[in-house]
Amino acid sequence: MRNSAIMTGREPVGLATESRTAKAVESFAVYGRDTGGPFVLVSDHAGQAIPAELGDLGVCATERARHIGWDIGIDGVGRRLADALPAVLIEQVYSRLVIDCNRAPGHPTSIVRESDGTPVPGNQGLCAQDIAWREQVILHPYHDRIRRELSARASRNRPTVVVALHSFTPVMRGKARPWHAGVLHNKDSRLAHIMLDLLRHEGLTVGDNEPYALTDTSDYTIPVHGEQRALPYIELEIRQDLIAQPEGQAAWAERLARLLPQAWRAFCDRYGEDTP
Ligand SMILES: [Zn+2]
Repeated sequence: MRNSAIMTGREPVGLATESRTAKAVESFAVYGRDTGGPFVLVSDHAGQAIPAELGDLGVCATERARHIGWDIGIDGVGRRLADALPAVLIEQVYSRLVIDCNRAPGHPTSIVRESDGTPVPGNQGLCAQDIAWREQVILHPYHDRIRRELSARASRNRPTVVVALHSFTPVMRGKARPWHAGVLHNKDSRLAHIMLDLLRHEGLTVGDNEPYALTDTSDYTIPVHGEQRALPYIELEIRQDLIAQPEGQAAWAERLARLLPQAWRAFCDRYGEDTP
């Protein structure tokens, strides 16, 4: 049955109340807690689950565990960061191979037929109904949850910074990537530039819109939840070999828990917290 309840087999720790009491497991998980800070953390590619209806998409476990299936290590960074700030983290629990939650519905790479040389047989020849089902059970509930979080804050005039967490593979198409991390930005670069300086001050090699540039078409989460709402935001990419293990995840969470509030203070000093 295609419209049966989605089971992920994952029991997130530190759930917000609504998720703890929810009967059916949602396509998103919520971690951390809101203690009055400005940050809302979102993680589009943190999950590896596949809905039971779709089997394994015809992709073996080894391939699914590669960067094509999820953002390696970002779950450990995000959850530790949510605890340390503290802040709410909304995480997608399904693999990006099922549907990419950082792409607009209908985008050519929303449901990939091939990724970094690996074919995805379960994504071949999908009909409109198949695609709509994935959007309805995975993409939309996740983004609706982010929307609810941000709307609730807006209704209370809470200053809000959207922080999108990602990780990138150290080697792509045979080419090594030199950056430890990247800060991505598009129309509003103010907070990105502050964060870029802070990260570089740590002695890190940090990409400015590298390894990817943030655009309205290649991205979805920040254009919709950050830029359309005129909220300050940071889209961060961390190189996967640095956060593949718990030690690296803890070190990056500690670093970000220290630098994000610094960046926000600098932003407020410069622009005031009521901006745009
Ligand atoms: Zn990602």
